Amino acid sequence: MKIPSIALLLLCCCYHGKAHVYRPVKPKNIILMVGDGTGLVHLYAGYTAKGGQLNIYEYAKTIGLSITASFDDFITDSAAGATAFSTGKKTRNGMIGMGPDSTSLKTIAESAFDKGLSTGAVVTCELPHATPASFYAHRPSRKMYPEIAKDITNNPAATILVGGGLPYFDTSFLKKAGYSISIGIEAMLKNTGERQICFTDTFKEPPPAPKRGPSLSLGSMHAISRLSKNKKGFFLMIEGSQIDWGAHNNDSAHTIAEAIDFDMAAGEVLQWAKKDKRTLVIITADHECGGLTLHGYDRVNKRPVMHFSSTHHTAEPVPVYAYGPGADMFSGVYQNTEIYNKMMQLLGLR
Ligand code: MG
Ligand code: ZN
Repeated sequence: MKIPSIALLLLCCCYHGKAHVYRPVKPKNIILMVGDGTGLVHLYAGYTAKGGQLNIYEYAKTIGLSITASFDDFITDSAAGATAFSTGKKTRNGMIGMGPDSTSLKTIAESAFDKGLSTGAVVTCELPHATPASFYAHRPSRKMYPEIAKDITNNPAATILVGGGLPYFDTSFLKKAGYSISIGIEAMLKNTGERQICFTDTFKEPPPAPKRGPSLSLGSMHAISRLSKNKKGFFLMIEGSQIDWGAHNNDSAHTIAEAIDFDMAAGEVLQWAKKDKRTLVIITADHECGGLTLHGYDRVNKRPVMHFSSTHHTAEPVPVYAYGPGADMFSGVYQNTEIYNKMMQLLGLR
């Protein structure tokens, strides 16, 4: 049988190994979902309480482990943890979008915006809180809320924001910066501004799940519906902020409710990404919190018996679940800063 010349050529390339150079399939959009303080066990507790189902487990076939230590501490805080994702640099605990020597570092959101992509953040904490702040602000201390709120207001890369913390912002400054402001989930769904800040409530800190309602799911899909209009693509950071707070308080019910709320948002996002086919979804954590282990099953409350060995963060590496084009790059064990490097490479930002 005569072998067509093109097939012969391909066979030759394979034989010489040239066809095996690894080039990841590149996504158009990246959605980074951060479960603050969410170790392996927090999500498994949610899975158990949901009767053995978790959207994240169903979708995420690629799993890796992220080592979370900060520049100056074996145990990171959320500021240094998020700065590792946003800038690719390990920094000192408490620092926002800055290196250990206090120099401002360009964040992935800022790089994406400069290349014409749309950018945003959806969270269940106050918007100047450490995790969202690390993508849109540059300050030596996470405690500088008024300054962080000003940075966010003046950062053109902060195109669509959903979360709490209204009392920290000057609404006249926000309006001057071109923001269309909405308060409450209903109003958010009607907010059609080019640049928008959607406060989910009027409090400094949004209420815990399930009391605050599906603000994370609805906020995530609202942001995606706006951001996905950009033909060049988008970068969105979504945070289940309060899983960490439940664990700090060693509050089993709150930790589980937050893990389920986060998974519900992840389910919506993953379902959208499945249809879109050009979006990479990465689901991870900045660190573990509470040193959580499960010691049995509580048949009365239909949830696992949870034992917290700490009221603080721990050094445990955290899982990285990935779905979509480029997901296979996230298998293995690596430093948290590698998440930034991989995302930058995949979006063609370096
Ligand atoms: Mg956080
Ligand atoms: Zn914490």
